[in-house]
Amino acid sequence: MAGAGQPNPPVTPRGLLAIFAHPDDESFGAGGVMALAAEAGNPVWVLCATNGDQGGRPGEVDVDHSLDPEIRRQELSCACQALGVAEPIFLGYRDSGMEGWGAPEGSLSRAPQDEVVERILAVIRQLRPATIVTFDPGGVYGHPDHVACSAVATEAYRRAAAEPGGPVALYHQALPRSAVAVMQAAQEEERRRSGDATPPSEDDLRQSEAIEKLARADEDITTIVSISSVLERKIAALACHDSQMRGRRWEDPETRAQMERMFGSETFVRVDPVMAPGEREDRFIALGWGR
Ligand SMILES: [Zn+2]
Repeated sequence: MAGAGQPNPPVTPRGLLAIFAHPDDESFGAGGVMALAAEAGNPVWVLCATNGDQGGRPGEVDVDHSLDPEIRRQELSCACQALGVAEPIFLGYRDSGMEGWGAPEGSLSRAPQDEVVERILAVIRQLRPATIVTFDPGGVYGHPDHVACSAVATEAYRRAAAEPGGPVALYHQALPRSAVAVMQAAQEEERRRSGDATPPSEDDLRQSEAIEKLARADEDITTIVSISSVLERKIAALACHDSQMRGRRWEDPETRAQMERMFGSETFVRVDPVMAPGEREDRFIALGWGR
């Protein structure tokens, strides 16, 4: 550590830091870019703000509502191995649960914002990533932890970017309306095919309404990354999050075909450096991949 008043030694930032709220957010939203960045020789890390300990859902009798946080930590570790990235880093906050559940003591959405920002900043200073990815402000479907995570990670990026050796690019993971339509059609098809007559739970309905409402206009999306070359890794990472997958059968060829339609690409808004209106890119900058 340099003493007060001494210039810090020059550091060149490298690699990708993904900052998400729960184990599984990283694989759904950015598993493909993480695998691509790692394949290109970049260090890649996941910072997970909570232990995901409210990952069960009330009303689902066969799912333990207060899941053992150790299960989800292990699932994230498994996903990181599948993606070929470093072991996860946890901030250890409790999962706030879905809107209306009443966030518990010690949860991310109840933590003082500045405290969380400073903790993320400490991780950034230690790792020195070039590029950071987190949720967009709506958090895809408005989960209180996703919204909080986007705000604190974005603020931590801004503070870190102002320092020597700070990160140089910030991306927000976001779903365009066209992708939401494809996803909903795929889910509908899966329901029909499986003959599942159970009506969706209130939380499910609320979630799919929120996804529609919070989806971004397609023209807002700056960065569309084709992830077909690493799709196997993304699917393997998703399969690690077994406690969240509600018995999906990944080997089933029709499920597979749906995955390919739903997860052929990942979509982002580049927040910094700002892109010119109408400009688009097909990879993250500052990671030297695809050159
Ligand atoms: Zn989440």
